[in-house]
Amino acid sequence: MTPTPQTPTVRRRRGEGQWALGYREPLNPNERSKKDDDPLNVRARIESVYAAGGFDSIDPADLRGRFRWWGLYTQRRPGIDGGRTAVLEPEELDDEYFMLRVRVDGGLLTTAQLRAIGEVSQTYARDSADVTDRQNIQLHWVRIEDVPAIWSALEAVGLSTTEACGDCPRVVLGSPVAGVAEDEIIDGTPAIEEITRRYIGDPTLSNLPRKFKSAVSGSPRQDVVHETNCVSFIGVEHPEHGPGFDLWVGGGLSTNPKLAVRLGVWVPLDEVPDVWHGVAAIFRDYGYRRLRHRARLKFLVADWGVERFREILEREYLHRPLLDGPEPPTPDVARDHLGVHRQRDGRNYVGFASAAGRVSGSTLVGVAKAAERVGSRRVRTTVHQNLLILDVPDAELTSLQEEMASLGLHSDPSPWRRGVMACTGLEFCKLAIVETKARAIRLVEELEERLADVQAGIVDPVTVNLNGCPNACARTQVADIGLKGQIVTDADGAQVEGFQVHLGGGLGLDSGFGRKLRGHKVTSAELTDYVERLVRRYLAARRDGERFAQ
Ligand code: SF4
Repeated sequence: MTPTPQTPTVRRRRGEGQWALGYREPLNPNERSKKDDDPLNVRARIESVYAAGGFDSIDPADLRGRFRWWGLYTQRRPGIDGGRTAVLEPEELDDEYFMLRVRVDGGLLTTAQLRAIGEVSQTYARDSADVTDRQNIQLHWVRIEDVPAIWSALEAVGLSTTEACGDCPRVVLGSPVAGVAEDEIIDGTPAIEEITRRYIGDPTLSNLPRKFKSAVSGSPRQDVVHETNCVSFIGVEHPEHGPGFDLWVGGGLSTNPKLAVRLGVWVPLDEVPDVWHGVAAIFRDYGYRRLRHRARLKFLVADWGVERFREILEREYLHRPLLDGPEPPTPDVARDHLGVHRQRDGRNYVGFASAAGRVSGSTLVGVAKAAERVGSRRVRTTVHQNLLILDVPDAELTSLQEEMASLGLHSDPSPWRRGVMACTGLEFCKLAIVETKARAIRLVEELEERLADVQAGIVDPVTVNLNGCPNACARTQVADIGLKGQIVTDADGAQVEGFQVHLGGGLGLDSGFGRKLRGHKVTSAELTDYVERLVRRYLAARRDGERFAQ
């Protein structure tokens, strides 16, 4: 029928594949693969078939899909430049080696666990190791034949790779100083342990629309980048009920960034796992599944709004109302815990900066030894790709700092070592367009040398986050200088590796996305010159106490 002014066209919105609305048929190959077989089942095939049969015996649907639920991604085949990333077929990009992600929920590690990861790396992963900005540790060069032995070694010390990647609940971030910091509001560790005990590896949550990112921190420093997670519980003091958590939902970066929003509720510690499960179940049931790039909780939260999300959570999932809660104050202190800090028990925790998260298996073994030498058994990872050692007596501080410095880990780093982060990039990542890790490490070293004259004037480190593609794994949009990898044209007209620049993003007091300035692109080769120029200009023009993002 031809519409007339009296008969307006009624447009039916295409279904988003939401299970709760009756869409159960898979609308894309990822959904099909998950429906065909629970990805958690792939572990049995790895142990019984693939480890013995080798790389060529792996079913492609497992290799490029279900393996992720056990922390395994194929690495990028060496020698393929970033300009070819988009044009090659997945099998042309696949190397026969894997990245293996070890989940470190809450960033909590014993020295025995750290040593086990280090030794696994030395034995099976060419001594590779990266501390990620989600508190995990990633190894590279892993062969499928060795995966069962690696799992045995990790599981013997209580570690796992279960759901370290994939469309499922990923690692639960936690305050690295939970339970020890003098200024702590509440220790969220019991909630993290209960969430992982109940729900990681739970088949009722192993088919989510996409990844589900969580955080729990009772630190007033709000040290888990809660603005960028699907669900976060942030410590707050309720005037009547005491310490508990403020609930945030719907954050996420990538190509369509959104900051999380508060639901305005207060959650006591023992209710955190149930509320976490309610939010995860909303995502499972109502989350969009048709288009992969819309299949994150942030889109549902943005479409529903805070009131509706809270109402559905209370009515359909918790079957009770939640208590209204106060907003926690935004801290005006560093969130990275670097340097020496007094613990509640009189000992100290010490935060050490790595260069863009790049360490090695030997370094991890060295850190475990150094910690044990000073009587500590507890190490923590942070969302800034750094490491903390807890329980350090006063008398051992200096010797520990010296020993860690000899491992390349510094408790009083330059602003650049402190402020530079990088994702995996072209070295190993199949989506990458540019190289990031080695470039970031070089950037740190060059800036330390070139900007030595102004270093003392930099109170708040200028954050520089290098990302190998638009996916923003190293949080492009919330850095002072966010760098998004792409191919750019250099002065001679050649197509070379470079970055689109985003300026002035931040979290906390400066919460907001950096501005993508037209024409602000820089080649990888010119990056150090560019950052140096920018920093000198900022220092020359800033008014008293003005931060870069202001
Ligand atoms: Fe890979 Fe892109 Fe993520 Fe970097 S930002 S790790 S290149 S997907």
